[in-house]
Amino acid sequence: ECRKMSTTERTFIAVKPDGVQRGLVGEIIARFEKRGYKLIALKLVSPTKDHLETHYEDLKGKPFFPSLISYMLSGPIAAMVWEGLDAVKTGRAMLGATNPLASAIGTIRGDYAIQTGRNICHGSDSVESANKEISHWFTENELNKYNNPLQSLIY
Ligand code: ADP
Ligand code: MG
Repeated sequence: ECRKMSTTERTFIAVKPDGVQRGLVGEIIARFEKRGYKLIALKLVSPTKDHLETHYEDLKGKPFFPSLISYMLSGPIAAMVWEGLDAVKTGRAMLGATNPLASAIGTIRGDYAIQTGRNICHGSDSVESANKEISHWFTENELNKYNNPLQSLIY
């Protein structure tokens, strides 16, 4: 048996422009806080086209790539880093499926979205992409180090 043990991870979560404009930043943050994850970094940013094309470089060949980039340029993005046990996989589960119509009720997309092209949030899909995305969106200085005494009640 080679079942992977839970490990403490960091994941990059972002509220996309439609999520910010619809006032869902607080709701999304609240879900990660209440689940037990630790907030490491947080900022509202208006990234350049170049920055977004690099963020989504794996999707460069897709027919929806240009519309994805203009969607991501349509307003500020709330960028954050959350840390905790299995943060990457659990973060994805909390977001729901890429297509909100396929997302379970109770997930962020399943509760607040109906279109793939307006699916309100982003979450890293692996530890490797999380590390890449965290360093693409944040400087080392912006990744806060602090002790959260409550964390010991959760873990
Ligand atoms: P996820 O965000 O769930 O990791 P992907 O990495 O596959 O999904 O795609 C990145 C983003 O591109 C999606 O969240 C969505 O906003 C957009 N997207 C993906 N597939 C489509 C599609 N078929 N049509 C329009 N937009 C899409
Ligand atoms: Mg993805």
